[in-house]
This record gives sequence, C-alpha cells and structure tokens, in this order.
Amino acid sequence: MTATELRLSMSIGANGTIDTDGTDGTNGTDGADGLRPAFCPAFSSGRRKWTTLCDIDRDRLALISLSMRMHAAVGGIGMSEHFDVIVLGLGAMGSAAVYQLAKGGVKVLGIDRFSPPHTLGSTHGDSRITRQAIGEGEHYSPLSLHSYELFREVEKLTGSKFLEITGGLIISSDSDHASINNVDEFFENTLSAAKKYDIKHEMLDSKDMRKRFPQFKVADNEIGYFEHEAGFLRPELAVQAHLKLAADFGANIHTNEIVVSFEETSDGVEVRTDHNEIYRAAKLVISAGPWLPQLLAHSEVGVDDIAEVFTVFRQVLFWFDVSAAHSEFTQEKFPVFIWHLQGRDGGIYGFPSIDGPSGGIKIASESYVNPVTPDSVRRDVEPNEIIDMYENKVRPFFPKVAGKCVKSAVCLYTVTADSGFVLDWFPSSQRVLLCSPCSGHGFKHSAAIGEAVAQLVTDRKTTLDLSPMNLQRLRKKTASKI
Ligand SMILES: Cc1cc2nc3c(=O)[nH]c(=O)nc-3n(C[C@H](O)[C@H](O)[C@H](O)COP(=O)(O)OP(=O)(O)OC[C@H]3O[C@@H](n4cnc5c(N)ncnc54)[C@H](O)[C@@H]3O)c2cc1C
Repeated sequence: MTATELRLSMSIGANGTIDTDGTDGTNGTDGADGLRPAFCPAFSSGRRKWTTLCDIDRDRLALISLSMRMHAAVGGIGMSEHFDVIVLGLGAMGSAAVYQLAKGGVKVLGIDRFSPPHTLGSTHGDSRITRQAIGEGEHYSPLSLHSYELFREVEKLTGSKFLEITGGLIISSDSDHASINNVDEFFENTLSAAKKYDIKHEMLDSKDMRKRFPQFKVADNEIGYFEHEAGFLRPELAVQAHLKLAADFGANIHTNEIVVSFEETSDGVEVRTDHNEIYRAAKLVISAGPWLPQLLAHSEVGVDDIAEVFTVFRQVLFWFDVSAAHSEFTQEKFPVFIWHLQGRDGGIYGFPSIDGPSGGIKIASESYVNPVTPDSVRRDVEPNEIIDMYENKVRPFFPKVAGKCVKSAVCLYTVTADSGFVLDWFPSSQRVLLCSPCSGHGFKHSAAIGEAVAQLVTDRKTTLDLSPMNLQRLRKKTASKI
C-alpha cells in the first residue's frame, strides 16, 4: 500500500481503533476530499492531524492505534471523531439531508437508532401523496415543485422508481365539512396555489366526477379539483435511495446507534451515543421525527419550551380489499385523493391499489386526540378501529370497497400548533438546526428540505424561502388548539 492509498483508506473507527480498510462502520474513505477547507476551522485542524498520521510508517501507526484504544478504554468512551455535520435521524428528512451534504463534499455523519427505512417512525406504509398546489399553504408549492425535480434526479442516479403520477382528486363542498391536516381553507388554498404557480388542474362538478371516477360516491353539492401531476411517493424506496447515494458520495452512515445527548461546545457540537461514542462536528442537524420532543426534553439545551412545540399523534393506515373490482382501482384508473367528508369528524385520503389484486387500497383518516410518544404508542390496530373506519368513512363513500382489511399500520405525526413545519436554528445557536417538517404532510417536500438543510449548515444561500418554517412563531404555543 502506498502512502497515498493509506491516506485514502484510513479512518478512525467508531470503536476508537484506526480502521485501515474501511470496515469499521465507515466506507473506507474519509469523505473529506473535495471539501471547502474554509467551511469549518475545527475541521481544518482535524484534517492537518489526519495528514500527519497518514505520513508515518505502519509500525508507528500500530503504536498510535494501541495508545488510542487504551485512551478510549480508560475514559470509558470511544474516540471522538470530527465531522463537518452530524445528521441525527435518517428518515425522510435526514436521508435527504445526508445525501445533499455528501454530494456537496461535506464530511457528514448520519446516525439512526434503527436501520432506515423502518416502521417505527413517520416514514412507512408504502405510499405518500404528492401534489404541487399545496392546500396547507401556497408557500409550500415551491418546495413541492422543487422536490419533484430532486426526486427525479435521485431516481435517475439510483435506478429506483419511487415517484408515480396518478393524478390527484380533492373533493370538497360549500357545506360544513371535515378538514385534512387541520387546515380549514385547504380547498381554496389549493386552487389559489394552482393559479399562482400555473399548476395544471381541472375543476369538476359532481356529474363530472361520477362520470370520470365512478368509484367515488360523491354528493350533488360536492366539487372536485383534479391535479394532473399529483401522485404518490414510495417512502421506503425513497429513503433507501437517498441513503445509498449518500454512502456512495462518502457519507458515514451509522445505523442501530442511538444519540443519547448532544451539546454545544465552544467550537462546535458534541453528540453522545449509546455505543459510548462521542462525535464532534461543526454543525448538528436534528431530524429525529417523532422522537424529537423527548430528545429535546432530555438534552442540556437550555431552552425548555422547545419540546412543547411538537406533539406526536398516533395515526392508523388501513388497506381495504378491492379484489372483486380490482381493475377499477389500479393507478391507471384511480387517482390519489383527499376528501373533505361532510358530516364526519375527519376527512379521508387514499391511494390506488399498488400491490396487486389482493393488496387492497390504502385509505386513512387523521387523529389528533391523544398525544403519544414513540415508546408508549399502541402499535397494533384493534378490530373495532377497522370496523369504525370502514362503516363511517369507507363503505358510505366507496361502494365497491369491501370491509375486509388486508393490512393495517400505525404511523406517527409530529404536529405543530399551526400544522406547519420547523426548519430553523436552535434559539441563540447557529450550530444546531431543528428539522421537523411533518404535521402529516412533509414527505412530498423532503427532497427540497434535504437540500435546504445542506445549504443552511454550509452557510450557503437557500434556494427557497424558509421563513414560514421559523421556530419563533410556535414558542409558547402548543398543538392544543387542534
Ligand atoms: C400516517 C402518515 C401519513 C402521511 N401522509 C403523508 C402524505 O400523504 N404526504 C406527505 O407529503 N406526507 C405525509 N406524511 C408526513 C411524512 O411522512 C412526514 O413528514 C415524514 O415522514 C417525516 O420524516 P422525518 O424524517 O421527520 O421523521 P422519520 O422518518 O420518523 O425519521 C426520524 C428518524 O430519526 C431516528 N431517530 C430518532 N431519535 C433518534 C436518536 N435519539 N438517535 C438516533 N436516531 C434517532 C428514527 O429512528 C427515525 O429513523 C404522513 C405521515 C404519516 C405518519
């Protein structure tokens, strides 16, 4: 091995040893080549030390390795490795962020308590609606539109297909109706965003909808907004693709490792994990999804009202049988939909059949009743929940959908008081970035959020306006208005 090869393949492993073949939780490169050295002063000095190590002979290297192991053993904690950025949580947001950071040549460590994609957070259940005119607020439309481009780019780079266009139907009425994502003006906002951003759509009356989409039993007073480029994303495939690309670009990905605390130091942040490791970085991104409130509550962050900004709610996804009329529910015939039901306590949304004749169609409503935590939430779905959903919100509206529930899942919303997102620096810090775009509608924006995170933590100008996601608007308010 030449000195250059040694330099490229050596890293300090997660257990405090020097890893010369990249097998120790890293990909064998230091991921730093190509980084703008000016980005992080602490990193620059780390890099000098790195180079010195690489220039010495193998015997001395072995001695240093031994001394580092002893040091780690005496201290009871692992060696501290320095990164430019640590991303805590590799779900929808974190995976997109590590990809964007690694692609930009940043030395990034992504840590997740599980091995994403997994089924315990907010990013599972086969499908997420994507649309371009955003009823939760027209300011989200640029995020969504840009995410379409970025998702397509990731599909191209990986060969994975996770964005499907089916068209999207939003059904509403002038009378009292249930909302989706806690936004009363959802339909009106959608229409206004479609006009503002020139998004291709059609307005349908009840006759048009019955003719075009006979699967929906619409009432005479209902109207439809049909968006041509709406569709769905496959969240698990998208996360997988982002993480694969991130690793290809040199990101360090640590899975099945829990961050137990983090703190700001004079020149950066320190993150401790249940592997007895301390990792240092110039910046930390916290994209812990529904674990965010408890992580904040247990950290020495000095501001105790932040955890209260986020409330976690249990959501249930149901797949009902359509095998008797499967051809009418395939994605060629049946669009993704959002329906502001009249006379019901909540709206519904759903997807075409994407898993064969026996896979059913996914339909869900929303629940904002009892706050939960990822540890305490009930993960199973009871038979009476299935019956209640079918009898109240499926059978009256979809005559050809059968009552047999072929699959169900529990997923978690992390919700703010205004059902918006947070992407903002921790108060009085320019080192810890909070990234919580959920409130039940974040996935479609995750690619653009990942890019925005990368821009923020590398002090670059952000492409999109992130001001509506500021934290200050929510402090001292809680999600209790819901
Ligand atoms: C039922 C449901 C339906 C939805 N429908 C839609 C939809 O149709 N369209 C749409 O756009 N959006 C939708 N959303 C919202 C969207 O899915 C979320 O906005 C998005 O998945 C949130 O991603 P996240 O990265 O914030 O969280 P997650 O994907 O949950 O990621 C958080 C990660 O952090 C890790 N983590 C947590 N704590 C630690 C720790 N201490 N140490 C290490 N790792 C840690 C977790 O293991 C997890 O992998 C829906 C959400 C749900 C639940």
